[in-house]
Amino acid sequence: MRTKYNTFWYTANTMTVKKGYWGFDTKAIDLSVRPQDDFYHYANGSWLKSAKIPADESRWGSFITLRVDTEHQLKKLVETTRQQQVRDMYASALDLKTRNKLGLKPIEPLRRELAAVKNHKQLERMLIKLGRMGLAGMWSEMIEQDLKNTTKYALFLWQGGLNMPDRDYYLQDLPEQVRVRTAYIQHVEKIAKLGGASPKEAKHIRGVVLKIETRFAKASMSKEDMRDPHKIYHKYTLAQLQKLSPAVSWQHYLAGIGAKKLPYVLVGQPEFFKEVSRMLREVPLEEWKIFLDYDLLNSASGMLSEPFIKESFWFYSQVLAGVKVMKPLWRRALGAVGGTLGELLGRVYVEAHFPPASKRAMDQLVTDLFEVYEARIKALPWMTAATKKKAVKKLRAMTRKIAYPKRFKSYAGLAIKRGDFAGNLMRATEFEHKRELRKLGRPIDRHEWLMTPQTVNAYFNPPMNEIVFPAAILQWPFFDAKADAALNYAGIGSVIGHEMTHGFDDEGSKFDHKGNLKNWWSVKDRTQFEVRSKLIERQADAHEVEPGVHLNGKLTLGENIADLGGLVIAWDAYQNYLKKHGRRDIAGLSPEQRFFLAYAQMERELRRPESAKLAALTDPHAEASFRINNPLKNFAPFHDALSTRKGDKLYVDPSKRAEIW
Ligand SMILES: [Zn+2]
Repeated sequence: MRTKYNTFWYTANTMTVKKGYWGFDTKAIDLSVRPQDDFYHYANGSWLKSAKIPADESRWGSFITLRVDTEHQLKKLVETTRQQQVRDMYASALDLKTRNKLGLKPIEPLRRELAAVKNHKQLERMLIKLGRMGLAGMWSEMIEQDLKNTTKYALFLWQGGLNMPDRDYYLQDLPEQVRVRTAYIQHVEKIAKLGGASPKEAKHIRGVVLKIETRFAKASMSKEDMRDPHKIYHKYTLAQLQKLSPAVSWQHYLAGIGAKKLPYVLVGQPEFFKEVSRMLREVPLEEWKIFLDYDLLNSASGMLSEPFIKESFWFYSQVLAGVKVMKPLWRRALGAVGGTLGELLGRVYVEAHFPPASKRAMDQLVTDLFEVYEARIKALPWMTAATKKKAVKKLRAMTRKIAYPKRFKSYAGLAIKRGDFAGNLMRATEFEHKRELRKLGRPIDRHEWLMTPQTVNAYFNPPMNEIVFPAAILQWPFFDAKADAALNYAGIGSVIGHEMTHGFDDEGSKFDHKGNLKNWWSVKDRTQFEVRSKLIERQADAHEVEPGVHLNGKLTLGENIADLGGLVIAWDAYQNYLKKHGRRDIAGLSPEQRFFLAYAQMERELRRPESAKLAALTDPHAEASFRINNPLKNFAPFHDALSTRKGDKLYVDPSKRAEIW
């Protein structure tokens, strides 16, 4: 639910091709496609035709191999580590025999307590308890920097209560939403039966759950609106919050979660909290108990016995993403270790697998990219000098984190036991909840990482004004110290430029050099920026992902602006490199051709249709072919290098090209 940072990839990915000495996969090229018509399919077509998505994946491509490779490395580390928590967490996840024997036992005390609830006060106490363990609830709370005063932490209240990935699945009647919703209704009934309900009771439970979740969905802010930081920033004193949402006794609730004496809270979606209050008065207590019991069973499914795991897999992986079979148990167990003891595992990982030389090389690349970014801002034809000055100020203030944190998180005091997988997960979630709440009133921890070092991804964090690159992404096909420079600039170079550009996309540009949500633009410059962004928004809206399903221009705008920025900044940095080191052809390919080839190859990906639709409806990142072809369409050096002409499918009249950064 965090909205504040923008990742480079939604989930990470892999590659099946052996790398050549210069880092390219020329066998992947499909010469039957004209690069001027579809560069993505030209660069990747043969690979896309011959590769197969493994049965346990929803997508397969340029970096799932990297993720899978990393998982194999982690498996060995976890199996041989002497670190007790890591070892026992992994063992408890693998111990299906015990998990099956325990069945529902791990959550029985919670279910009994919930069943005994007699009034709203007790219901609130249950919400506090379940929320701390991440198991059920109507909303969530998180501790983040106050977006308008980033030197302080604040408590955010955030909408919740939905068990499908987005409100649109409850509210829209397009074929994909109807397909998923129909399956979800069955899923609720099946989970209820696994929880002990008779067929008749299960039908009743299904009705109650759908009624309550649909009401939450109607009151929820759309994902498009949530990308506007002004729309999710609402400061309330406790007295004001009590007025906004009177049916919850907020003082009691906040004290219960460990947030005492708050001067104010930040409410993400005030309309949602108004509606929750109305619902608490209108929906009978018995129905709330039914909803929360289901929510608890559903959230806990992954940590219980096989029938629950299978049902959860059916809806969340098979129906939603088209995955055919479950991942092997060891990969799921590894996921549990990463999710609970992430930095403990991360520390072991970087010690074993991350070469210090990569960190130095990366540091130099980032410095190169900052340099060209500044030059580009200064030369922008559409921005006035005053705004340029502020943009440069923001760029210079942007900090970088590379590979792994300076200080790893401590997990001291977290009890991890063999034979108690569910208990381990509940304790770990509660432990993290406490860690978060402890931040209130403390100085900002500028060393904190929001991703683990073993994650194949990267992010920009607006209130921190920082770009972050975990160790695991600093590998081929993104980065390889031995590869041709074209590959590194087009690969990790464009990832770096992408993250930097998030500081200047439609969302990030609303934050100033200190990360505060504060306008630094002149009206005229902002209008120019918006005219240019609108071009990209329309290009995305026009792109069909699956028959009848288009990209969402507003949802993907920030990522699409960042993709374009990543390309142009990486290109400029590469041009500087060529000036310093000279040009040469390799295997008959010019430096420019190699740059574009590497750029298109790092993004290649196959997706199952269900997964493609899910992403089009919920993922702020566009699909792979658009992430490559669209920035190229808008990029003059691409048209020069390939001599595109009117009539070529990628040709765009220069007056209609989106040029922002
Ligand atoms: Zn991004």
